[in-house]
Amino acid sequence: MAYDLLVKNGRIIDGSGMPSFHGDVGVSRGKIVGMGRLSGPAKRVIDAEGMAVAPGFIDNHCHYDAQVTWDPLCTFSCYHGATTVIIGNCSLALAPVRPSDHEQLAGMLSEVEAIPMDILRAAVPWDWETFPQYMDSVERRIGINVGTLVGHSALRLYAMGEASQERAATEGELEIMRGLLRDALDAGALGLSVSRNMSHFDVRGKLIPAAFAPEAEMFALAQLLGEVGTGVIQSGGGAGPELKQGLMSRLSEASGRQVIYNSITHSLYAPNRWKEHLAFIEEKSRQGTRAVPLCSPNSATILFNMKNSQFFRQMPAWLNIMQVSDEEKLRMYADPEVRKKLREDLELPDNGFGKRWDILMVEEVALPKNEGLKGKTVEEIAALRRQDPLDAFLNLAVEEGLNTTFGFCHRNTDRTAVSELLNSPYIVVGLSDGGAHVQYHSEVGYSTRLLGYWVREKGIMSLEQAVRRLSFDSASAYGIYDRGMLRPGLAADMVIFDPDTVQPRKQEVVHDFPNNGWRMRVLADGIHYTLTNGEVLLDHGKPTGATSGQVLRNGRYIASHNGHA
Ligand SMILES: [Zn+2]
Repeated sequence: MAYDLLVKNGRIIDGSGMPSFHGDVGVSRGKIVGMGRLSGPAKRVIDAEGMAVAPGFIDNHCHYDAQVTWDPLCTFSCYHGATTVIIGNCSLALAPVRPSDHEQLAGMLSEVEAIPMDILRAAVPWDWETFPQYMDSVERRIGINVGTLVGHSALRLYAMGEASQERAATEGELEIMRGLLRDALDAGALGLSVSRNMSHFDVRGKLIPAAFAPEAEMFALAQLLGEVGTGVIQSGGGAGPELKQGLMSRLSEASGRQVIYNSITHSLYAPNRWKEHLAFIEEKSRQGTRAVPLCSPNSATILFNMKNSQFFRQMPAWLNIMQVSDEEKLRMYADPEVRKKLREDLELPDNGFGKRWDILMVEEVALPKNEGLKGKTVEEIAALRRQDPLDAFLNLAVEEGLNTTFGFCHRNTDRTAVSELLNSPYIVVGLSDGGAHVQYHSEVGYSTRLLGYWVREKGIMSLEQAVRRLSFDSASAYGIYDRGMLRPGLAADMVIFDPDTVQPRKQEVVHDFPNNGWRMRVLADGIHYTLTNGEVLLDHGKPTGATSGQVLRNGRYIASHNGHA
């Protein structure tokens, strides 16, 4: 057989979770056509000796709705092996939209997801009004595959105008929304996104439209998916309402559709909550519903220095020092009497710190002689300097004129908890928020974090299981049935990576956005190739210029178009 592409001698991890094997993958016309030991002419051969060959990852929770219009790769998800991004989450989308509402709709995305408005004003082409038109506009030039969800806030603004941020919809307005949603599903949208996050505001400080929807309205929209027989329901801020009122499982029950919500995590601030949450979902799942939270393999770090010791504000003696001048702070931190009080405060219950010197880390130092302390925990430094941790901490801060940057990691720090969460069949791994809060922090490295840190360094699961979590499981949850595994007949979305070196790099600032905009980026080590629909998109971190991405269509659309999207 003649191939367009032959990937030779790789460690094939097919995404099913089954053991990997040594072999080749043949690709023709954008699809996988053979696996095993293959021979025959090929237009291109990639030697994957020593590397893993896996189905491309599904970056399932993104906000690239605007960025995709100027960045066909949706950087930087694909640098971490993603071949599909799913946008339109948390009720936010850029369609449908009336020409007079561009500013208002973009303003919500800008405010909630922290994407500077001047960039959106300069770059979004607005060559659509309806959702299907938006999908077509996106598909004109994309490298990565893009799955779209219809945002409830956009539907509401379109159907209700200003009243969308004031009240419940009337029967007539609801019918308009259901009509718009049906049109989008007919065009292949992957589903609907709603929100129960009551801290998402627009530019004027008003809650976003979806927050004004009573339950009955959410159910009326969710049930449409059931009637049409396709699509998933994604909800921002779903964990609270699920645990209190079972809202997410009731939505799933009423519509018969998969519900995916934000989120579950291990947090030092509520160390046992994840366990209760997991037990809750397991019980609901036994009853036959499918409502699952997303869980990110990333940790979250608070950065601070002792000039602004916000971090310790829940302890009175520490809070006191926050309010004085820097010179006075220096004097007080060094004073043994003050230290005595600070030490007593450490014993207070729920003080926001919990004496976790073992995870309080030095991120940046001010003095060259302290370079070696970077990346060490205060506990480690205390042992090194033969000092008590509190003394070691304050001595360093004072010695450096309060200019040391410390980091406190409060999320996903417990290996046992993270292992149980990421291995649970009742959660979906993901939640990169790609394209959002671009000037604050980037979470797109969740996949390389899972492969590098949790699998290689901590051994919480096999490589095969990790690949399955990132590809097949996510594809299944979001109703993407023609990819997510390496199988003859499926789309040739692939990532070729080195299991021994794969990891996210350090976050850095890059000036590459429209209107001279800047943002944070995280690149990856060990990702050698990312391929979408059989074409190499990234070759060792360099874009090839391929525009082989597709707008992914729901299962019903594909079935009714004879398998051809
Ligand atoms: Zn979101």
